[in-house]
Amino acid sequence: MPKKIAVIGGGFSGTMVIRQLIVHGFKGTIHRFIQENSETLGPAYKNNSAPLLLNVRNQNMSAFPDDPSHFVRFLEARYPEVALPNNFVQRSIYGHYLKTIWDETKDLSKKAEIQLQLVSTFQVDSEEYDAIVLATGNELPRIPSGISEKVITSPFYQGNPWEIDYNSMQHEHPIFILGNGLTMVDTVLSLRHAGFKQKIVAISTHGFNMLVHPENEILTEQVSLPVQQDLHSLVHFFNTQRKALSHTQFLLLVDSFRPIFSTWWQRFSLEEKKLFLCKFRHVWGTIRHRIPAQIAQKINEERVSGQLVVQAGKLLTLEENGPCAKIEYVSDNQVINGDFACLINCTGPETDLAKMTNPTIKELLSRQWILPDLIRQGIDIQADTHLAHGNSPMKIYAIGNLCKGTLWESTAVGELRAQAKLIAKGILESK
Ligand SMILES: Cc1cc2nc3c(=O)[nH]c(=O)nc-3n(C[C@H](O)[C@H](O)[C@H](O)COP(=O)(O)OP(=O)(O)OC[C@H]3O[C@@H](n4cnc5c(N)ncnc54)[C@H](O)[C@@H]3O)c2cc1C
Repeated sequence: MPKKIAVIGGGFSGTMVIRQLIVHGFKGTIHRFIQENSETLGPAYKNNSAPLLLNVRNQNMSAFPDDPSHFVRFLEARYPEVALPNNFVQRSIYGHYLKTIWDETKDLSKKAEIQLQLVSTFQVDSEEYDAIVLATGNELPRIPSGISEKVITSPFYQGNPWEIDYNSMQHEHPIFILGNGLTMVDTVLSLRHAGFKQKIVAISTHGFNMLVHPENEILTEQVSLPVQQDLHSLVHFFNTQRKALSHTQFLLLVDSFRPIFSTWWQRFSLEEKKLFLCKFRHVWGTIRHRIPAQIAQKINEERVSGQLVVQAGKLLTLEENGPCAKIEYVSDNQVINGDFACLINCTGPETDLAKMTNPTIKELLSRQWILPDLIRQGIDIQADTHLAHGNSPMKIYAIGNLCKGTLWESTAVGELRAQAKLIAKGILESK
């Protein structure tokens, strides 16, 4: 059995790989590498005073694949007022849940006489490990073109939407958000919570509206998936069902398909994957990334009052203009110029390994210990083991967002908890 493991990452995935290793009988040393401010929670559930909610119902947020009601039982014991399985609770509560699991994990490691240490900087040179688990989570969004180096490092460009520097932002001019998905929604609510009252303009390539989770969760329609498992058949199937089913039943059909989408994805040819990326990823992302009704109501109020304007558009330039940022963009075939407090980049995490800024990923890639997948959506891994392909002298596993190119759906707790168990068992069974 391997004796020394490095787990790199301070979020859900890192915690759950370690927990699964311990539960399944690991003996030896685990070094967990975390960044200073991670609180072992990651950006999603880190202590954040804004009243943001989970985007997934309580009943689907258990950290353990074999114990689906674990999170609901935690809520019943600690937060009974919000424990209904169908609810969406505050993310800070989920942070409490993860902290509790991490504390238990540390206790379990002591009882099992496992050396579990938190370490702050990962040294790629240390070839002392039998296995490395990359649980590094979301990369920062790619810096848009049209922005000078000087502006990128100024308060006019907020490149980390999960850690906005509110203190550096002025309250007079409107705020510009690039992207209009879940991160935009979080950002708008966080800005309001932090006291920013000015108008917000959000643009994205397609300008799709966010969809709302249906109230009830039961798919009553019996629908059979197509026999042919290719992209064309899948698109045809969803197009047909969209017309045949009610809106709610259609969304629930999409939910029921999500857990098996990875299996379909792996059967798609390279051309089909590229076609999906080019033509369908935004539609699919909009349909499956939904917000709870309470959040949708707040966003709707913002839009109706004109305080939030969401448009399809394209950023052209961002320049410093005295106390504000001058932003030029195209929307509705018109070039628009305006002075803004800043631009907040909510375009989603960088997925191209070659463009990632994470020092560990950069270093491992430069040594070719890890390789990009063919569609540049993360690390090339073996789907059934999560082992990275490459020339590494030790086994390297990847979990979560880094595995998108191979699995496509590899982001939410439902996916990560199963991956954590799979990786832990793989490590324990390896020589
Ligand atoms: C704002 C937001 C809300 C979300 N809401 C939900 C939800 O409601 N339901 C759901 O199922 N999923 C949700 N998700 C998906 C979320 O990504 C997963 O639930 C999960 O939190 C991801 O965990 P992770 O550990 O893989 O990554 P992360 O949480 O991103 O953690 C990775 C950690 O590794 C650290 N790290 C990175 N590189 C290094 C390094 N070189 N050395 C040391 N440490 C490093 C980072 O600082 C970070 O703390 C949300 C995601 C976000 C961003």
